[in-house]
Amino acid sequence: MRMIRSGLLMLLLGLLPAHAQTAAPVSGGPVDPAKLQDLVLANRVLTDLNVIDGFGHVSMRHPTDPNRYLMGRSVAPALVVADDIMEYDLDSNPVDARGRNSFLERFIHGEIYKARPDVMAIVHTHSPGVIPFSVSSVPLRPVFHLGAFLSPSVPVFEIRNPAGQSNMLVSNPALGQSLASVLGDRNVALMRGHGSVVVAATIPMAVFRAHYSNVNAQLQMQAMSLGGPVTFMDPEESQKTLGVIDQIHGRAWDLWKRAALEKMPK
Ligand SMILES: [Zn+2]
Repeated sequence: MRMIRSGLLMLLLGLLPAHAQTAAPVSGGPVDPAKLQDLVLANRVLTDLNVIDGFGHVSMRHPTDPNRYLMGRSVAPALVVADDIMEYDLDSNPVDARGRNSFLERFIHGEIYKARPDVMAIVHTHSPGVIPFSVSSVPLRPVFHLGAFLSPSVPVFEIRNPAGQSNMLVSNPALGQSLASVLGDRNVALMRGHGSVVVAATIPMAVFRAHYSNVNAQLQMQAMSLGGPVTFMDPEESQKTLGVIDQIHGRAWDLWKRAALEKMPK
């Protein structure tokens, strides 16, 4: 009798639509199309700047619901269009997947949004410039004014600490939490043998920081290869410079955005 009853239950569950079985999170509501387009363009700009390539991702917190975030489906960033943007809760469950695949490393985003209420946009890169600093004992430090946001320090997330021998991907909530705690209240964290995560209060600033982390890393390497002591920016200089960058970074974003728009499929 019990077997018959459980068989009936299985049959009923099988008839239910998939979303009724897993209770997908509720949407945070519609998003201004101009803001969605900025997210789409950020994917393309970061590709144009060689910060991300076939891999890497960029997300934004939902503009009207701080417990949701938006990010492209699992596709090369240069190919992202508005229909590819998916919504997630902060546990990184998709709101309405519609058959679209999610990035394995989406937990980077959800867990940082949970830990950092001030963060509104996140970029995850494998940018080549920063990788050497993720595996070296030499810290990444600001060597020029546009790298001032690297002050006071850039921590390195060692995935062996929480995961032992792993496939190197931040592919579950616990690893995302561990990365968020290494990032702390800073703007950039490196991921050993993997890449970086960059956070900001806006998409343009997140793109700016992701790009100039890579540029600063290349310049620092060149300066160090000359031999002799290198003069880094002092924390006070960095602090003073950040105020100026806040005011002027929009100029770079406008330029990058226009170039990406011209290349968008009509
Ligand atoms: Zn990655």
